[in-house]
Amino acid sequence: MTTQARTGGAAPRLPAPDEPVLDVSGLSVRFRMRGGRRIAAVTDASFRLWPGECLALVGESGCGKSVLASALLGLLPANAQTAGRALVGGLDLLAADERTLARTVRGRRVGLVPQSPAAHLTPVRTVRSQLQETVRELTGARGSGLRAKAEAAAERAAFPADHLDRYPHQLSGGLAQRAATALALVGDAPLLLADEPTTGLDRDLVDRTVDELRRHADAGHALLMITHDLAAAERIADRVAVMYAGRIVELTDAPAFFGEPGPRHPYARGLLDALPERAFTPIPGMPPELGALPAGCAFAARCEHATAACKTVPALLDGTACHHPQEPTRA
Ligand code: SF4
Repeated sequence: MTTQARTGGAAPRLPAPDEPVLDVSGLSVRFRMRGGRRIAAVTDASFRLWPGECLALVGESGCGKSVLASALLGLLPANAQTAGRALVGGLDLLAADERTLARTVRGRRVGLVPQSPAAHLTPVRTVRSQLQETVRELTGARGSGLRAKAEAAAERAAFPADHLDRYPHQLSGGLAQRAATALALVGDAPLLLADEPTTGLDRDLVDRTVDELRRHADAGHALLMITHDLAAAERIADRVAVMYAGRIVELTDAPAFFGEPGPRHPYARGLLDALPERAFTPIPGMPPELGALPAGCAFAARCEHATAACKTVPALLDGTACHHPQEPTRA
């Protein structure tokens, strides 16, 4: 058993400003399917996340973003195999056993803002009851301290105190999101993982949700936001990582990505050009099946810049995994 497991409910050590909160190196996830088929859901992902920073992990549905998030929380199904490392405060999340993950990681080192907050909340219990239970479990508070800490957690997520005694079905989508965020913040985990937190919300609510998440990053948390919503990513992120067919193909500063000089990977450019407020030109074709990836660059069949060199997989160099990275010629 690790030291972390023995310490049980102890608060995680907060990283120094010059120390990454999350250090992911060579993370790969494979699913073994019936008949011997293997799905390459994530391949060789590497990135670091610093205190107070928001990294947006973007890409089309099925590109591996949510699998990566599940790997960090130890929530992969039994047929998954992982490789690589994902360090948070010296603990390798990929190597940790279930007991360690349950006792010292989920909620304590890594807070999860879930994709479907309404589904994440227990329908037959009030928000107050769920918050108090989480406070008791993560902080050990009892008695009157429990009530005060639950109310403080609600306040941190801008959840109104006069709604604490409501049940989840009595909440709007926005308030359910805030309740789920409040639960994620109880343990004051240095890393917040938000998995598609704006799905199903109208634009107003998207903006409010990402602004609230940004406040938590500004308060010193590291925030990994997984999203296919590029407008939300632009609003919140310091850096952007673009995934395609299970690989990170571009990793760059958000202002350079969304502004000038723009992304250098043809797929990342295509994602931006597909936006209605930009060229509104969809990327031709479809992503490959993760169970039948082509040899070489997985984007080649859709890429107008493909050459014979693209028959080998490009490494991520200077933030771009492409044999022919595009120069900043955007109008
Ligand atoms: S490596 Fe080749 S096929 Fe892949 S994105 Fe770059 S230019 Fe296109």
